[in-house]
Amino acid sequence: MKIKVETKNVNETIGVAEKFGKSIFPPCVISLVGDLGAGKTTFAKGFAKGFGIKDTITSPTFTLLNEYESTGKKLYHFDLYRLTDLEEAYSLGFEEYFDLTKLKGVVLVEWASNANGILPARHFVVNLTKKSDTERLIEIEPKGLV
Ligand code: ADP
Ligand code: MG
Repeated sequence: MKIKVETKNVNETIGVAEKFGKSIFPPCVISLVGDLGAGKTTFAKGFAKGFGIKDTITSPTFTLLNEYESTGKKLYHFDLYRLTDLEEAYSLGFEEYFDLTKLKGVVLVEWASNANGILPARHFVVNLTKKSDTERLIEIEPKGLV
């Protein structure tokens, strides 16, 4: 099943992501896919709000990983844009976050394709497509579930 929603502005994207965040229970890995500026980090902000994270979410472009914890809920937000390959991800110890038998929280990952093979079989893909300056198509699809 794939859920498709079109948003007309940032707030609508935040709203969709917030609803999704409310419906997700850990452990869970969510791959955010889309070009630069498509709205992956914006989606992460809304998701975090719905999931119950109180802190402000900022882009992990330079840190690769930002960790958040609120009232016992853990959120790991990766941006692998600057990563070269899966080997580099493993050398940084990232594989444990993508192991559903070890993961305690929710992982959001931008540019997972730069560490091809890092995603567990069961994950969600959130695809964001820029339709205009202010409009986005958001497609949410569970993968690896029978
Ligand atoms: P990414 O992480 O995919 O590079 P960002 O979320 O950082 O993208 O940036 C998305 C940009 O697009 C922001 O500047 C945001 O204000 C803008 N934008 C305009 N319309 C929308 C929309 N409907 N949904 C999300 N972002 C939007
Ligand atoms: Mg981003």
